[in-house]
Amino acid sequence: MPTLGRSLIAKIFLVSFLSVHVPLIALIIHLLSGFDTGPVPVFTLILVATLVGTAICLFAIWRFIRPLHHLAEALMKYPQDKSVLKLQSEGADEIAIVTDVTKSMLWQVEELTKKLKHQATTDFLTGLGNRRWLTEQLPAAQSQAERSNEPLSVILFDLDKFKHINDEHGHEVGDNVLMIVGEIVKDSLRPYDLAARIGGEEFCIILPRTSGEAALSIAERLRAAFEASYLDPLPIGRVTCSFGVVQAGPDERLQQLLRRADTALYKAKAAGRNTVIGVFADKNI
Ligand code: GH3
Ligand code: MG
Ligand code: MG
Repeated sequence: MPTLGRSLIAKIFLVSFLSVHVPLIALIIHLLSGFDTGPVPVFTLILVATLVGTAICLFAIWRFIRPLHHLAEALMKYPQDKSVLKLQSEGADEIAIVTDVTKSMLWQVEELTKKLKHQATTDFLTGLGNRRWLTEQLPAAQSQAERSNEPLSVILFDLDKFKHINDEHGHEVGDNVLMIVGEIVKDSLRPYDLAARIGGEEFCIILPRTSGEAALSIAERLRAAFEASYLDPLPIGRVTCSFGVVQAGPDERLQQLLRRADTALYKAKAAGRNTVIGVFADKNI
């Protein structure tokens, strides 16, 4: 049997029972106290006592139900407003239980959503973003660049002869190479740069506040870092990448940007790989 404080029905029953009996209690007290028992005073007493009993009953039920009203209000505003997650339950009745369970379930939903969002936008091998994430990030980076009248550049790079590494040393070594590349990229960039693995062994970096020329030197630094990396059993100099660098035009979509960067990357491959090529205003650097 639930105790009184834990049962909303028991609480409502008790307060209703007591309120209904307020006129009777008032009448007994009136009679026992020897007051005037004429019809007018008795009728007035019962009328006032009935009103008082009704008011007490309404007030008590309003107090019992109020937390449910708060919960409903907060739930209607979710997920625009997360205040429901901070709602304090009152007492220990069914409304308090529903509030606590709802909060706990919504916290789980929040955690799961965060986890799924992270998984959906992160490349599990390198920990960099994926193509979807980069596509989502670019518009904000571009409008920020336009607002502040600053350049924005893109580096696209692809591992050289990577298929051979897989074929000769196995897929696991190939995966380790991708991870090392991810680490080097993470270590080399500024906090506001956006790096993603957008294909099997193809990576893209969006560089806000960076001119094409500055992006070229960043790409050159990365090229040298990859070339100098060592991963057993590959000799130093075996892990190399080819780079295409472009500066974004105003409102240029990711697809168009990547197409131009891909043209530069293709030229870097054709130039013998382990090379950086920038394409700016139709001239190669
Ligand atoms: P190129 O210098 O012209 O780019 O030659 P490549 O061998 O790097 O390019 P190709 O497109 O011929 O081969 C890419 C290889 O990348 C083939 C595929 O097995 C490998 N690859 C793609 N994704 C992964 C991955 O997640 N892990 C591993 N280990 N290999 C991958
Ligand atoms: Mg390749
Ligand atoms: Mg490729």
